[in-house]
Amino acid sequence: MIKLRENVPLAPLTTFGVGGAARYYSEVSGAIELAEVFEYAEKNKLPLCILGGGSNILFSDKGFAGLVAHVVGTTVSVVGEQLSASAGVSLLAVVTAAKDAELQGLEKLAGIPGSFGGAIRGNAGAFGVEISQCVVSVKALDRDTGMVREYHQAQCEFHYRSSLFKLHPQLVILSADLKLVPGKKEALARVMEETIAAREAKHPQAAKCAGSFFMNPTVTDTHLLGEFEKDNGIKARDGKLPAGWLIDYVGLRGKKIGGAMVSDRHPNYLVNTGHATALDIVTLASLVKTRVRDELHIKLTEEVQYVGF
Ligand SMILES: Cc1cc2nc3c(=O)[nH]c(=O)nc-3n(C[C@H](O)[C@H](O)[C@H](O)COP(=O)(O)OP(=O)(O)OC[C@H]3O[C@@H](n4cnc5c(N)ncnc54)[C@H](O)[C@@H]3O)c2cc1C
Repeated sequence: MIKLRENVPLAPLTTFGVGGAARYYSEVSGAIELAEVFEYAEKNKLPLCILGGGSNILFSDKGFAGLVAHVVGTTVSVVGEQLSASAGVSLLAVVTAAKDAELQGLEKLAGIPGSFGGAIRGNAGAFGVEISQCVVSVKALDRDTGMVREYHQAQCEFHYRSSLFKLHPQLVILSADLKLVPGKKEALARVMEETIAAREAKHPQAAKCAGSFFMNPTVTDTHLLGEFEKDNGIKARDGKLPAGWLIDYVGLRGKKIGGAMVSDRHPNYLVNTGHATALDIVTLASLVKTRVRDELHIKLTEEVQYVGF
């Protein structure tokens, strides 16, 4: 039996720390509870929002006039080189479990906030590693059919910060199986520590933000690609330029609107400096998109999910 709460503040459940309340809110763990939530929302004609760790989501100031289903869970198990975890487990707990089991493959994802399910859905990645590289299969409950289905890696349509589950939000991830390779615990622990330190050196990770706000766009403008190379001494990876570099290029590093600011350390981080509203953040995001489009003819696409706008 699911427990529903009413008028639950959403800001503390997100890393941005902004947004209003959920009309209804329930924590769900597993297919049965999730199916009950689907049924309740359907019966009461309520829009539904799935929430994981809240590290890639921006709720509007008026909140969400429907039901927020917060996916929680604690199950991580390791058999041989296969690791299985439920969607609600934190990604860091999964990375740590792999290290403790002397399995290699996830350590460069250490420090990415959020849930395991959220990471699979957005194909989270850092330092040249994406979680999809380890995925064997993903179990999801389909809101349209009410069926649980297992999707094998090739069916998951993983791309840069995207997957089948992102393109089809009716599919809610329940769990996933990963295949890793043997490693040494001390070495894995060291890589995790170095990775977390490298992230912190780039930008304070406790900042109120959602990490990179925009996805890195593919750029064909050879002049701009050349400028990037000149500036950084490296070539663009896969023809993609860092959105942060483009934002800096149009002069928006440090730009503030209300309590929202383009980080002066990492211009693809839009940060709540303390008292930002969701409106401040979307207005700033909109200014960034407009400037990059008008000056560079490049369309930036949000990685962050807007809810309730
Ligand atoms: C400081 C900081 C640094 C970051 N660095 C990185 C980085 O290096 N690389 C990177 O890839 N990301 C990074 N991020 C972004 C974020 O951590 C990831 O996108 C993360 O994987 C989101 O997971 P989540 O559980 O927090 O998702 P949420 O924010 O809760 O949700 C995001 C979206 O996923 C959906 N969703 C959540 N759970 C499920 C589920 N079980 N089934 C289906 N849909 C679901 C939600 O409906 C929503 O649309 C960073 C964020 C912060 C705050």
